[in-house]
Amino acid sequence: MLSVVLKAVDVVNKMKLKSTPLPVLYFHRVLSTTTAFCPDDWHFDNFQLLINKLSKHFTLMSLEDAVQCLENNTLPSNALCLTFDDGYQDNYELAAPTIESVGGKASFFVSTQGTERGYLWNDELLEIVKCTKAKSLVFNGKHFTLDTEEQKANAYLFLVGQLKVLPNSTRDSHLLELQQTLGKVETSRCMMTASQLVDLQNRGHCIGAHTHTHSILAYQADDVAFNEIELSVIFLNNLLPKNVKCFAYPNGWFGRDFNEQHEEMLRQSGVAYGFATNDGGITLNSLKTRLPRFMPHRKELNQFCISIKKIAGEKLSD
Ligand SMILES: [Zn+2]
Repeated sequence: MLSVVLKAVDVVNKMKLKSTPLPVLYFHRVLSTTTAFCPDDWHFDNFQLLINKLSKHFTLMSLEDAVQCLENNTLPSNALCLTFDDGYQDNYELAAPTIESVGGKASFFVSTQGTERGYLWNDELLEIVKCTKAKSLVFNGKHFTLDTEEQKANAYLFLVGQLKVLPNSTRDSHLLELQQTLGKVETSRCMMTASQLVDLQNRGHCIGAHTHTHSILAYQADDVAFNEIELSVIFLNNLLPKNVKCFAYPNGWFGRDFNEQHEEMLRQSGVAYGFATNDGGITLNSLKTRLPRFMPHRKELNQFCISIKKIAGEKLSD
Protein backbone atom coordinates (compact mmCIF):
# COMPACT_ATOMS: atom_id res chain seq x y z
CA MET A 1 0.00 0.00 0.00
CA LEU A 2 2.76 2.42 0.91
CA SER A 3 4.48 1.77 -2.44
CA VAL A 4 1.27 2.74 -4.25
CA VAL A 5 0.98 6.02 -2.31
CA LEU A 6 4.66 6.83 -2.93
CA LYS A 7 4.24 6.20 -6.67
CA ALA A 8 1.16 8.44 -6.71
CA VAL A 9 3.13 11.29 -5.10
CA ASP A 10 5.84 10.69 -7.73
CA VAL A 11 3.26 11.23 -10.46
CA VAL A 12 2.08 14.50 -8.87
CA ASN A 13 5.67 15.70 -8.45
CA LYS A 14 6.52 14.85 -12.03
CA MET A 15 3.53 16.84 -13.28
CA LYS A 16 4.55 19.79 -11.13
CA LEU A 17 8.32 19.79 -11.67
CA LYS A 18 8.63 17.90 -14.99
CA SER A 19 11.04 15.50 -13.27
CA THR A 20 11.28 13.39 -10.13
CA PRO A 21 12.97 15.51 -7.45
CA LEU A 22 15.82 14.03 -5.38
CA PRO A 23 15.07 14.24 -1.64
CA VAL A 24 17.98 14.85 0.74
CA LEU A 25 17.44 14.40 4.49
CA TYR A 26 19.62 15.81 7.24
CA PHE A 27 20.47 14.18 10.56
CA HIS A 28 22.94 15.05 13.30
CA ARG A 29 23.66 12.48 15.97
CA VAL A 30 22.46 8.91 16.43
CA LEU A 31 22.50 8.18 20.16
CA SER A 32 22.69 4.86 21.99
CA THR A 33 21.27 6.52 25.12
CA THR A 34 18.86 9.42 25.07
CA THR A 35 19.83 12.64 26.81
CA ALA A 36 17.89 15.82 27.49
CA PHE A 37 20.93 17.70 26.14
CA CYS A 38 20.25 16.41 22.58
CA PRO A 39 16.43 16.29 22.35
CA ASP A 40 16.25 16.37 18.55
CA ASP A 41 18.65 13.54 17.79
CA TRP A 42 17.67 10.00 16.87
CA HIS A 43 17.86 7.13 19.30
CA PHE A 44 19.74 4.21 17.73
CA ASP A 45 16.78 1.79 18.07
CA ASN A 46 14.45 4.16 16.20
CA PHE A 47 17.16 4.93 13.68
CA GLN A 48 17.56 1.22 12.87
CA LEU A 49 13.80 0.88 12.37
CA LEU A 50 13.82 3.95 10.12
CA ILE A 51 16.69 2.72 7.95
CA ASN A 52 15.04 -0.66 7.61
CA LYS A 53 11.84 0.97 6.44
CA LEU A 54 13.58 3.40 4.09
CA SER A 55 15.62 0.60 2.51
CA LYS A 56 12.41 -1.11 1.39
CA HIS A 57 11.16 1.93 -0.54
CA PHE A 58 14.21 4.00 -1.42
CA THR A 59 17.70 3.58 -2.88
CA LEU A 60 20.03 5.15 -0.31
CA MET A 61 22.78 6.90 -2.29
CA SER A 62 25.69 9.16 -1.44
CA LEU A 63 25.22 12.78 -2.52
CA GLU A 64 28.04 12.65 -5.04
CA ASP A 65 26.68 9.50 -6.70
CA ALA A 66 23.11 10.84 -6.71
CA VAL A 67 24.02 14.25 -8.12
CA GLN A 68 26.17 12.60 -10.79
CA CYS A 69 23.25 10.31 -11.78
CA LEU A 70 20.87 13.28 -11.80
CA GLU A 71 23.17 15.11 -14.21
CA ASN A 72 23.47 11.98 -16.42
CA ASN A 73 19.71 11.40 -16.33
CA THR A 74 20.21 8.00 -14.70
CA LEU A 75 18.86 8.73 -11.21
CA PRO A 76 16.47 6.02 -9.92
CA SER A 77 13.07 7.58 -9.15
CA ASN A 78 13.29 6.23 -5.59
CA ALA A 79 16.74 7.71 -4.88
CA LEU A 80 17.20 9.20 -1.41
CA CYS A 81 20.25 10.81 0.21
CA LEU A 82 20.82 10.71 3.96
CA THR A 83 23.23 13.35 5.24
CA PHE A 84 24.72 13.77 8.72
CA ASP A 85 25.95 17.15 9.89
CA ASP A 86 28.86 18.11 12.15
CA GLY A 87 30.91 14.86 12.16
CA TYR A 88 30.03 13.09 15.42
CA GLN A 89 31.68 9.77 16.19
CA ASP A 90 28.30 8.01 16.49
CA ASN A 91 27.92 8.63 12.74
CA TYR A 92 30.90 6.32 12.22
CA GLU A 93 30.02 3.81 14.91
CA LEU A 94 26.23 3.56 14.52
CA ALA A 95 24.85 5.39 11.47
CA ALA A 96 27.25 4.28 8.72
CA PRO A 97 27.20 0.54 9.61
CA THR A 98 23.38 0.56 9.83
CA ILE A 99 23.07 2.17 6.39
CA GLU A 100 25.69 -0.21 4.95
CA SER A 101 23.81 -3.20 6.39
CA VAL A 102 20.96 -2.48 3.95
CA GLY A 103 23.36 -1.81 1.08
CA GLY A 104 23.11 1.99 1.29
CA LYS A 105 25.58 4.86 1.25
CA ALA A 106 25.40 8.18 3.11
CA SER A 107 27.05 11.60 3.27
CA PHE A 108 28.79 13.28 6.20
CA PHE A 109 29.32 17.04 6.56
CA VAL A 110 32.20 17.75 8.88
CA SER A 111 33.17 20.85 10.89
CA THR A 112 36.89 20.29 10.76
CA GLN A 113 37.89 21.82 14.09
CA GLY A 114 36.01 18.86 15.57
CA THR A 115 38.18 16.43 13.60
CA GLU A 116 41.29 18.32 14.62
CA ARG A 117 40.78 18.67 18.38
CA GLY A 118 37.95 16.20 19.02
CA TYR A 119 35.04 18.53 19.81
CA LEU A 120 33.30 21.78 18.80
CA TRP A 121 32.45 24.85 20.90
CA ASN A 122 28.95 23.56 21.65
CA ASP A 123 30.35 20.25 22.97
CA GLU A 124 32.62 22.24 25.28
CA LEU A 125 29.60 24.26 26.46
CA LEU A 126 27.60 21.07 27.03
CA GLU A 127 30.31 19.62 29.28
CA ILE A 128 30.68 22.90 31.22
CA VAL A 129 26.95 23.10 31.95
CA LYS A 130 26.52 19.37 32.57
CA CYS A 131 29.42 19.09 35.01
CA THR A 132 29.09 22.40 36.85
CA LYS A 133 28.70 22.42 40.62
CA ALA A 134 27.11 25.87 40.42
CA LYS A 135 23.44 25.89 41.41
CA SER A 136 22.39 28.80 39.22
CA LEU A 137 23.48 30.99 36.33
CA VAL A 138 22.55 34.41 35.01
CA PHE A 139 23.20 34.98 31.31
CA ASN A 140 22.03 38.03 29.34
CA GLY A 141 19.65 38.91 32.18
CA LYS A 142 18.08 35.44 32.20
CA HIS A 143 18.25 33.37 35.38
CA PHE A 144 18.74 29.59 35.34
CA THR A 145 18.50 27.09 38.19
CA LEU A 146 20.95 24.24 37.69
CA ASP A 147 19.82 21.63 40.24
CA THR A 148 18.66 18.82 37.96
CA GLU A 149 19.92 17.30 34.71
CA GLU A 150 16.81 18.63 32.97
CA GLN A 151 17.37 22.19 34.23
CA LYS A 152 20.97 21.99 33.07
CA ALA A 153 19.88 20.71 29.66
CA ASN A 154 17.39 23.58 29.30
CA ALA A 155 20.08 26.11 30.21
CA TYR A 156 22.48 24.51 27.72
CA LEU A 157 19.94 24.57 24.88
CA PHE A 158 19.17 28.23 25.58
CA LEU A 159 22.88 29.13 25.64
CA VAL A 160 23.60 27.28 22.37
CA GLY A 161 20.74 29.17 20.75
CA GLN A 162 22.20 32.47 21.94
CA LEU A 163 25.86 31.79 21.16
CA LYS A 164 25.41 30.26 17.71
CA VAL A 165 24.02 33.49 16.23
CA LEU A 166 27.04 35.59 17.26
CA PRO A 167 30.26 36.49 15.47
CA ASN A 168 32.93 33.86 16.28
CA SER A 169 34.95 36.20 18.49
CA THR A 170 31.95 37.18 20.64
CA ARG A 171 30.83 33.55 20.82
CA ASP A 172 34.27 32.47 22.00
CA SER A 173 34.56 35.20 24.63
CA HIS A 174 31.13 34.25 26.04
CA LEU A 175 32.27 30.63 26.17
CA LEU A 176 35.36 31.67 28.11
CA GLU A 177 33.24 33.70 30.54
CA LEU A 178 30.92 30.74 31.08
CA GLN A 179 33.95 28.55 31.72
CA GLN A 180 35.11 31.00 34.37
CA THR A 181 31.68 31.21 36.00
CA LEU A 182 30.72 27.53 35.87
CA GLY A 183 34.14 25.88 36.08
CA LYS A 184 36.37 24.47 33.38
CA VAL A 185 36.12 20.79 32.46
CA GLU A 186 38.00 18.66 29.96
CA THR A 187 35.93 17.81 26.90
CA SER A 188 36.73 14.38 25.53
CA ARG A 189 36.64 13.48 21.84
CA CYS A 190 33.13 13.05 20.49
CA MET A 191 33.86 13.82 16.82
CA MET A 192 35.21 11.45 14.17
CA THR A 193 38.96 11.19 13.76
CA ALA A 194 40.81 11.94 10.52
CA SER A 195 41.32 8.24 9.81
CA GLN A 196 37.62 7.51 10.33
CA LEU A 197 36.77 10.12 7.71
CA VAL A 198 39.27 8.59 5.27
CA ASP A 199 37.77 5.16 5.98
CA LEU A 200 34.21 6.39 5.31
CA GLN A 201 35.24 7.91 1.98
CA ASN A 202 37.07 4.72 1.03
CA ARG A 203 33.89 2.76 1.81
CA GLY A 204 31.99 4.84 -0.78
CA HIS A 205 30.37 7.44 1.47
CA CYS A 206 30.54 11.12 0.64
CA ILE A 207 32.46 13.49 2.92
CA GLY A 208 31.66 17.19 2.68
CA ALA A 209 32.70 20.36 4.51
CA HIS A 210 30.61 22.23 7.11
CA THR A 211 32.89 25.20 8.07
CA HIS A 212 35.84 24.90 10.45
CA THR A 213 34.33 25.91 13.81
CA HIS A 214 30.64 25.33 13.02
CA SER A 215 29.96 28.95 12.38
CA ILE A 216 26.74 30.38 10.93
CA LEU A 217 28.10 32.38 7.99
CA ALA A 218 25.58 35.24 7.92
CA TYR A 219 26.66 36.35 11.42
CA GLN A 220 30.34 36.63 10.43
CA ALA A 221 32.35 39.36 8.73
CA ASP A 222 33.10 38.40 5.12
CA ASP A 223 36.75 37.50 5.74
CA VAL A 224 35.81 35.30 8.71
CA ALA A 225 33.07 33.57 6.69
CA PHE A 226 35.44 32.94 3.79
CA ASN A 227 38.07 31.55 6.15
CA GLU A 228 35.53 29.23 7.78
CA ILE A 229 34.65 27.76 4.38
CA GLU A 230 38.17 27.62 3.01
CA LEU A 231 39.82 26.15 6.11
CA SER A 232 37.33 23.28 6.22
CA VAL A 233 37.70 22.54 2.51
CA ILE A 234 41.51 22.67 2.55
CA PHE A 235 41.66 20.52 5.71
CA LEU A 236 39.53 17.81 4.09
CA ASN A 237 41.23 18.01 0.70
CA ASN A 238 44.62 17.52 2.39
CA LEU A 239 43.28 14.57 4.32
CA LEU A 240 41.05 12.60 1.97
CA PRO A 241 41.95 10.56 -1.12
CA LYS A 242 39.29 12.46 -3.13
CA ASN A 243 38.66 16.22 -2.95
CA VAL A 244 35.38 17.37 -1.43
CA LYS A 245 32.67 18.58 -3.79
CA CYS A 246 29.92 19.24 -1.25
CA PHE A 247 29.42 21.76 1.57
CA ALA A 248 26.52 22.17 4.00
CA TYR A 249 25.86 25.63 5.49
CA PRO A 250 25.56 25.45 9.32
CA ASN A 251 21.93 26.04 10.34
CA GLY A 252 21.50 26.35 6.60
CA TRP A 253 18.44 28.53 5.98
CA PHE A 254 18.98 30.57 2.80
CA GLY A 255 18.35 34.29 3.39
CA ARG A 256 18.88 34.01 7.15
CA ASP A 257 21.94 31.81 7.78
CA PHE A 258 23.72 32.37 4.44
CA ASN A 259 23.25 34.45 1.31
CA GLU A 260 24.46 34.86 -2.30
CA GLN A 261 27.83 36.15 -1.13
CA HIS A 262 28.51 32.89 0.70
CA GLU A 263 27.48 30.92 -2.38
CA GLU A 264 30.14 32.86 -4.30
CA MET A 265 32.68 32.04 -1.57
CA LEU A 266 31.91 28.33 -2.05
CA ARG A 267 32.61 28.58 -5.75
CA GLN A 268 35.89 30.38 -5.01
CA SER A 269 36.85 27.55 -2.64
CA GLY A 270 36.31 24.99 -5.40
CA VAL A 271 33.14 23.49 -3.94
CA ALA A 272 30.55 22.51 -6.54
CA TYR A 273 27.47 21.87 -4.41
CA GLY A 274 26.16 23.81 -1.41
CA PHE A 275 23.39 22.34 0.76
CA ALA A 276 20.83 24.42 2.62
CA THR A 277 18.05 23.44 5.05
CA ASN A 278 15.21 24.88 3.00
CA ASP A 279 12.45 22.43 2.07
CA GLY A 280 12.25 20.91 -1.40
CA GLY A 281 13.88 18.33 -3.63
CA ILE A 282 16.72 18.63 -6.14
CA THR A 283 16.13 18.76 -9.89
CA LEU A 284 18.36 19.80 -12.80
CA ASN A 285 16.92 23.31 -12.38
CA SER A 286 18.09 23.68 -8.76
CA LEU A 287 20.82 26.20 -7.98
CA LYS A 288 23.90 24.10 -7.24
CA THR A 289 25.10 26.21 -4.33
CA ARG A 290 21.66 26.31 -2.66
CA LEU A 291 20.35 22.76 -2.76
CA PRO A 292 17.45 21.90 -0.44
CA ARG A 293 17.55 19.41 2.44
CA PHE A 294 14.95 18.67 5.07
CA MET A 295 13.81 16.36 7.86
CA PRO A 296 10.19 15.16 7.89
CA HIS A 297 9.21 15.41 11.54
CA ARG A 298 6.85 12.44 11.51
CA LYS A 299 7.09 9.67 14.08
CA GLU A 300 5.00 7.13 12.16
CA LEU A 301 7.30 5.57 9.56
CA ASN A 302 4.78 5.26 6.68
CA GLN A 303 3.95 8.94 7.13
CA PHE A 304 7.67 9.70 7.30
CA CYS A 305 8.16 8.04 3.89
CA ILE A 306 5.20 9.85 2.32
CA SER A 307 6.41 13.19 3.73
CA ILE A 308 9.81 12.63 2.07
CA LYS A 309 8.16 12.52 -1.36
CA LYS A 310 5.72 15.34 -0.58
CA ILE A 311 8.34 17.77 0.74
CA ALA A 312 10.68 16.88 -2.14
CA GLY A 313 7.93 18.08 -4.45
CA GLU A 314 7.85 21.53 -2.87
CA LYS A 315 9.73 24.11 -4.85
CA LEU A 316 12.62 25.94 -3.16
CA SER A 317 11.94 29.62 -3.69
CA ASP A 318 14.88 31.46 -5.19
ZN1 LIG B 1 25.81 21.62 11.82
